[in-house]
Amino acid sequence: MNPTHIEHLGIAVVSLNEAIPFFETLLGTKCYSIEEVADQKVRTAFFKIGQTKIELLEPTSPESTIAAFIEKNNGRGGIHHIAFAVNGIEEQLASAQEAGIRLIDSKPRKGAEGLDIAFLHPKSTFGVLTELCEKK
Ligand code: ZN
Repeated sequence: MNPTHIEHLGIAVVSLNEAIPFFETLLGTKCYSIEEVADQKVRTAFFKIGQTKIELLEPTSPESTIAAFIEKNNGRGGIHHIAFAVNGIEEQLASAQEAGIRLIDSKPRKGAEGLDIAFLHPKSTFGVLTELCEKK
């Protein structure tokens, strides 16, 4: 696999309204985008530090995997996933699979910011939910 950089870190939060002002203070930069990803039952808020983004994820439904993650973390959020930017996401998924890595998504799907994204299973990645993404 050939990630070019850490595209973003995904952080689960209970409330974007509460978390955004904190992260604006911490990072010294304004949230530049808020977007709902209906598919994943989340609302996302983005910050940019250099070429890496911070993606805050707020569940929009109790059935959201982010809601389940928060529940497991004592009702608080935390670091949820790491996302690597790759070139040729389909080929990267194929080579991950060849390397014996379990995939959550065997094909890329549309994520926030119009990126093609796919997740690798944390059971294959030392417990770190890992996302590959590509800007097309
Ligand atoms: Zn992500």
